[in-house]
Amino acid sequence: MTKPSDADLRANLRERGLRATGARVAVLRVLLDADRPLSHADVCDLVEGGGFDRATVYRNLTDLVDVGLARRSDHGDHVWRFEHSGAELHEHAHFVCTECGTVACLPPEAVKVEGVAHVQDVHLRGVCVTCAD
Ligand SMILES: [Zn+2]
Ligand SMILES: [Zn+2]
Repeated sequence: MTKPSDADLRANLRERGLRATGARVAVLRVLLDADRPLSHADVCDLVEGGGFDRATVYRNLTDLVDVGLARRSDHGDHVWRFEHSGAELHEHAHFVCTECGTVACLPPEAVKVEGVAHVQDVHLRGVCVTCAD
């Protein structure tokens, strides 16, 4: 998959009725580049240039959720985490490490239940490879 350009991202935002501000494009870019759900603090650390205050980043995250470009979930530690809701990321379970709190996306086929078309919002709990060492 080729990486969408900033122009693609701006078009994405406009399609959903959002103004394509610099902060919004930067926040959307962070979510797209991530391979796991990110907390608000993670996004603040990763956002390019870092010239946006935390409240701006938060407002933009919730805007993206409102229009369906991102999804927000609580993985059991009462911290909202955000991830891009692109086609390939839909409908999958998550693994949460009880030691370090890392949340990882599991491939859609990781959780299969007979008679269920797709499983959504399952949180598997355990210890990640890094913490098990
Ligand atoms: Zn861990
Ligand atoms: Zn995920």
